[in-house]
Amino acid sequence: MPNISDRFNLVSRQLRQTEIEQGRQPGSVRLLAVSKYHSVSDIRHLAALGQRHFGESYLQDALTKMAECEDLNLTWHFIGRIQKNKCGALASHFHWVHGIDRLIIAQRLSRQRPANMPPLNLCIQVNISDEPAKGGIPPDPTGLLELSTAISQLPQVRLRGLMGMAAAGATAAEQTAAFGQLHTLFAGLNRAGFGLDTLSMGMSGDYPQAIAAGSTLVRIGRALFGPPAEPRPNHQSAKL
Ligand SMILES: *Cc1c(COP(=O)(O)O)cnc(C)c1O
Repeated sequence: MPNISDRFNLVSRQLRQTEIEQGRQPGSVRLLAVSKYHSVSDIRHLAALGQRHFGESYLQDALTKMAECEDLNLTWHFIGRIQKNKCGALASHFHWVHGIDRLIIAQRLSRQRPANMPPLNLCIQVNISDEPAKGGIPPDPTGLLELSTAISQLPQVRLRGLMGMAAAGATAAEQTAAFGQLHTLFAGLNRAGFGLDTLSMGMSGDYPQAIAAGSTLVRIGRALFGPPAEPRPNHQSAKL
């Protein structure tokens, strides 16, 4: 069985190779290690190998891990579902929140971001998979422009880009089409002057297609950590 160092080296090599094959600048695609089902010791192991950015989906679990890793000065991304009443905790602990799909959430995050912290980085989630359960706003340029404009006016958050997921079980061609659609929306916002630098798309099963379509940040769980060791019973209740 490959250990976590082997997996990290393999994913890093494949990322670099895909950048080169796709004519992308080496190092232009950031690796977000999705540690949601994994232990502090795995996080520490990856941090020792140079990994800085970690993604979590379950708030209570995440806060525990963040406290235990405080000495490492890692950068934490929240990539789960967001509940209105959890915005205070998100705003005071995370560096990034990826799943923004309503203005009220961005407003609360801005209002609750402590004044002594830098603006909270946000990505708007767009539903490019046609699966209602996935969340995200519809891939409609007008609605997206309105939401982006409103978020850009909030003082304590900074709109960095868009996030999306291809459908589970999609073919490579369907993944490529979905990622291409998100890239088109992203390019449209930048033509309108938003200056976005983050296109968060691609997971363990589809990140080469996402990079080919212009991803700047891939969110990788299983390919780095292996399958979850055991179900963590508090996930449903702690889910945002
Ligand atoms: C869990 C998760 C990932 C990572 O998925 P893997 O298939 O394990 O790479 C990426 N993005 C989001 C939003 C997730 O919830």
